[in-house]
Amino acid sequence: MKTDILIVGAGCAGLYCALHLPKEKQVLIITKDAVRHSDSFLAQGGICMLKDDSDYESYFEDTMRAGHYENNPESVEIMIRSSQTVVKELIRLGISFQREENGELSFTREGGHSQKRILFHEDITGKEITSKLLERVKARPNVQILEYAAMLDLLSEDNCCYGAVVRLPDGTVTTVLAETTVLACGGIGGLYRYTTNYRHLTGDGIAVAFKHGVALEHINYVQIHPTTLYCDKPQERSFLISESVRGEGAVLYNKNMERFVDELLPRDILTKKIYEQMEKDQTPYVWLSMEHIPKEELTVHFPNIVKHCREKGYDVFRECIPVVPAQHYFMGGIRIDLFGRTSMGQLYAVGETACNGVHGRNRLASNSLLESLVFAGRAAEEITRQKAVMPVKRQGHMLSEESLLPYQDEEALAAGYKKTILNEIERLNNYV
Ligand SMILES: Cc1cc2nc3c(=O)[nH]c(=O)nc-3n(C[C@H](O)[C@H](O)[C@H](O)COP(=O)(O)OP(=O)(O)OC[C@H]3O[C@@H](n4cnc5c(N)ncnc54)[C@H](O)[C@@H]3O)c2cc1C
Repeated sequence: MKTDILIVGAGCAGLYCALHLPKEKQVLIITKDAVRHSDSFLAQGGICMLKDDSDYESYFEDTMRAGHYENNPESVEIMIRSSQTVVKELIRLGISFQREENGELSFTREGGHSQKRILFHEDITGKEITSKLLERVKARPNVQILEYAAMLDLLSEDNCCYGAVVRLPDGTVTTVLAETTVLACGGIGGLYRYTTNYRHLTGDGIAVAFKHGVALEHINYVQIHPTTLYCDKPQERSFLISESVRGEGAVLYNKNMERFVDELLPRDILTKKIYEQMEKDQTPYVWLSMEHIPKEELTVHFPNIVKHCREKGYDVFRECIPVVPAQHYFMGGIRIDLFGRTSMGQLYAVGETACNGVHGRNRLASNSLLESLVFAGRAAEEITRQKAVMPVKRQGHMLSEESLLPYQDEEALAAGYKKTILNEIERLNNYV
């Protein structure tokens, strides 16, 4: 198969990138699972936006503080300064956010934010954004989306990428040649026992980048979300209890129903405090109470959390729910510059798979959708600017059937990639 631009991943980053590519370029988006099965669809809390210039210093400082000042300030500035333009575009594309009675946008707050600056759509902001982006992408005649097609490896020569090895939905393994390849494969939660991520998100982009010597950054910076609904079946995806629930007044209790912590601490610090409390109490969870949140606010702002808890047997209007930290987000990734370029020619990375240092050591709540969109848009602009032509030599550079044989054993390949990433994370953690 051949295409101009191959995008691996159909979350908000991959879709937004596709929408900003020239209409005369053939774009193929592949996704390992159903197109709606991406973490982008799961985002609950919202998307940050700079309300006005008076909030700039404070938003910048909150992002840097949450990231332990290991953030790349240039990336942070670009993200914040681009937020209004991106949100305006989302609204133009038909995406709706909660509004006040006077029609102004409503803002909520989450942990680590000193101001209310998060736009939301009930507690399904990610679904609202990503489903509308998907509709727009589907309407583009130059873009094809292939579901249940997994990227297994990169094709590269002389540190230049010319496509990928792909398993097609019918199980055959083939090569897809492309002038430009964009990795938008999301996070690594699928490698962990407890995670809020989709299980098929196993850091494949990171593994193939590592294999080909593409530079990585901070891949041991893994965020654990402090509050997911406790479930004694770890193979199930952990259900997130959004930070905005705490932003709106939910409190954490120990086993004696005593408050033990400031619920709006940045995620990593709060997670540590919860683990310490669980250790002290010898319990596999702590309690979260939503009793201080007005009933109407709970019903209108968090209908899906209320519904999910009810399905699991908890009436949040009347009782506490057990919560436990779980793997949630990957701050590290494939090192990119401010235009999504990796250290390999013709290879870009966007979204959670990529790392431009915007989040530092720890991501501030609701900065991820924004970061994904801002930098996916910039990568698309850069791809558009450059007049890439696939070198003639590579035009016929399909791998032989024999070279594709090692990719046939799906489980062995996945196990190898998993080992590579977890070993590398461990090595870096031990090194520190
Ligand atoms: C429960 C939950 C709640 C969240 N809430 C918020 C929030 O309120 N605000 C916020 O800003 N962020 C939030 N986040 C984080 C945010 O949703 C993600 O960081 C963001 O959506 C990542 O987008 P993405 O496009 O990079 O990846 P994803 O949306 O995860 O998409 C990854 C894509 O890559 C595909 N893929 C992966 N590997 C392969 C492969 N080998 N071959 C082919 N395809 C592949 C997947 O199938 C998928 O289509 C939340 C995350 C979770 C899990």
